[in-house]
Amino acid sequence: MDHKIDNSNRFKVHTFGCKVNTYDTGLLQKNMQNNGFSVAEGEPRIHVLNTCAVTAEATKEAVRSIRRLKVRDPFCTVVVTGCAAQVDTGAFENLPGADLVIANSHKGQLPTLLRKYFNGELNEKVFRSNIFKKEDLEMGGGVEKSHTRTFLKIQDGCNSFCTYCIIPYARGKSRSIPMANLVARVNELYAEGVREVVLTGVHIGDYEDAMFGQTKTMEDLVETLLAKTHMPRFRLSSLEPIELSDRLLELYQDDKMCPHFHMSIQSANTDVLANMKRKYTQKDVIDSLSKIYKRLRNPFVGMDVIVGFPTETHEQFEDTFLTLADLPWTKIHVFPYSERPGTRAAGFTESVIPQQKQLRASRLRDLSLQRFETMGRAQIDTHKKVLVLKRSAKGGQALSRDYWPVQIIGADDFIESWSGQEIDVRITNYDHSNKAHMEGHLLGMVLT
Ligand code: SF4
Repeated sequence: MDHKIDNSNRFKVHTFGCKVNTYDTGLLQKNMQNNGFSVAEGEPRIHVLNTCAVTAEATKEAVRSIRRLKVRDPFCTVVVTGCAAQVDTGAFENLPGADLVIANSHKGQLPTLLRKYFNGELNEKVFRSNIFKKEDLEMGGGVEKSHTRTFLKIQDGCNSFCTYCIIPYARGKSRSIPMANLVARVNELYAEGVREVVLTGVHIGDYEDAMFGQTKTMEDLVETLLAKTHMPRFRLSSLEPIELSDRLLELYQDDKMCPHFHMSIQSANTDVLANMKRKYTQKDVIDSLSKIYKRLRNPFVGMDVIVGFPTETHEQFEDTFLTLADLPWTKIHVFPYSERPGTRAAGFTESVIPQQKQLRASRLRDLSLQRFETMGRAQIDTHKKVLVLKRSAKGGQALSRDYWPVQIIGADDFIESWSGQEIDVRITNYDHSNKAHMEGHLLGMVLT
């Protein structure tokens, strides 16, 4: 086939999976644009699939998307990249609709490889090598719906190898962006109008920067960003219980640190945690959640919990359920265990039958829903500082420091021009229908 078709440079990136992938999409787009490709306004000629591999289903979803794209436009070019391209290469290698497979190990070379492909200079379809040898880490990118908030990737990869997780095989060992570069980038983002930065990564607790013979950690990074930038709001993406150090909590005494935590707990039973190869125990889970509420006023605490892990017995689930029911938090994101081929847990002989898994998931989801509603209603009559977003997100036009979406009432004519400003509101209502959000009325004056 002659690949030198006209308009071949119009592309679209389709993003699957997590926030880190969303961030990487921004990076891919910039890289493509800097190399003569342009983002398609209408129908693209090139589709880049930035895939996810967290479950086997995620890979199947990418395969289905490729088939759909080729049915709609048989002459388009489909490039598969991302985590599934790295760990499930076989699913795409012989798939006729996938024209190029560029794994995470080769992601940075995507425009060059695509150019060569169109010039007929490539003899191979798959570009993949040992991800554990990848040392570099590109920065810049970051895509969020609202330009008043941005995700900033501080590291990639993970050194933990939890038994259920494929991510280290897809993204390699932990690599971090140097602190000085991150300070400079946050200052640039501030100049561009960003007023909230979410520090994100595959495992941000692994953050490390070796400077002048000294290793700097995530706490050092947070401290430096607070001291050397004007960014008014920072959040951290997921943390494990043992990563919530006293020093980190001390840094949260700074008003710029939003009192919002996403705790990667996964279970509250010590034996299940050991089988998952997590490095903490039930006591650490209890201590970390208790510490947050002791040190901070009115925090928002979300948690990830897996139910139906292969070795999880009825008693162990009950232990997790009762332990969590007794602890302070705001919301649980419940994940029924999904077997991921290639992981150690996929080789475990034990398993939890699907009905049990669903039962456990729905019990925990009910617990979460009740708690979330109670916590939501408890916000009525409180005062909050909210950041007005460029576009409405999750049911609100504004986001409070403690992560509640807020609809500002009686300000429709002005709200657009307040985008990027923090304003004070009094919460007057909590609406649980559809997208749960607060309603707030303005307090005091705002400069427009
Ligand atoms: S910490 Fe565990 S679950 Fe998280 S990315 Fe690393 S291996 Fe996966």
